[in-house]
Amino acid sequence: MYAVQKSAASYASKVKLWLAFCDTLGTDPLGATSADVLRYLCLFQNGDSAGGYLTAIRWLYMHNHVRPLWDDTWCRSLYAQRIAGIKKTFQPARKQSPGIMRDLQSELSRVAWADGSPDESLAYCLGREFGFRMQSECFPLQFSGLPGGHSSVKLRPAAGLSRSALEVALASRKNAPDGAIMVRFCTCPAGTGAQASGRSVWTCPVHLFILWSQRRGSQFGSLFRFSETSFVRNLRSRILRCPAALQPPDVSTVTLRAFRRGMAQQLARDKQPLSVILRAGGWRSGAFALYLDMGLLESEAVLDLCAAEDEAEDAPPRPTRGRKRVADLPPGEDIRRWCQGAAP
Ligand SMILES: [Zn+2]
Repeated sequence: MYAVQKSAASYASKVKLWLAFCDTLGTDPLGATSADVLRYLCLFQNGDSAGGYLTAIRWLYMHNHVRPLWDDTWCRSLYAQRIAGIKKTFQPARKQSPGIMRDLQSELSRVAWADGSPDESLAYCLGREFGFRMQSECFPLQFSGLPGGHSSVKLRPAAGLSRSALEVALASRKNAPDGAIMVRFCTCPAGTGAQASGRSVWTCPVHLFILWSQRRGSQFGSLFRFSETSFVRNLRSRILRCPAALQPPDVSTVTLRAFRRGMAQQLARDKQPLSVILRAGGWRSGAFALYLDMGLLESEAVLDLCAAEDEAEDAPPRPTRGRKRVADLPPGEDIRRWCQGAAP
């Protein structure tokens, strides 16, 4: 007797919701069909609580000695499927690396240089400015002029009205298996770059590269020799030495993707059109183009989607997921919801 009272108390609020639901539908709470129960489960945004509410209905039927019409093996598998679907749809999105934007990168490059790590100083600048996938695109860079299909870097001197530039030829790239040529122009305020001095040099790919080349001397072979682990470790510890206002909330979430993401975020902050951002990152999905035309996209949502696409590509077990997600985005679907729903 005591046990029954206890269950009644613990199921009371859940049962109340079921009674209210049946009332709205005009259904007998003790004569429900499996369709009614499925419809009821659709109310929930949390799979665990949906399961709890289902148990409460079972309790109600048992308590009233009514044999449910909706609880045979077949129906149970439908409910289990529905509840698993809720769990999948509403699980929180995976934590993404925060982006490293211009101000933080400038500070990081300055600190690394002062530490006697000019290679890392340059890699930070190139990583953000070019939006590199660090491991596959930045770390393997070589000086141009070598035979073979490697990815290379070369300086392009100023010509006529055109500023000096750094040209990177990637041997291959996602969405561009035959390679890609990327050019970034000097970003120094007019006249300051030639001296390669002052703050601007840390964010200018051209003049930091020149400064770095002079210090390095030999211009042959690979630019860098990094291990991912120590690169990320050094990066995080340098972030902690930068002004607090520039630091991301949780430095332990910073990964190599921070530069690529920071490039896109910086362009968005600089009010560049979305088409420019997508082109800069080499994100070429047809679905984005469609939505661009429809004027439906919000840049933050797209950046999240791009980051998810990058992440999917980095995760070896499911290499096609990123692509599939883009293709599956149905017209008119709320893009944020859709991102959440499609999260692995
Ligand atoms: Zn410059």
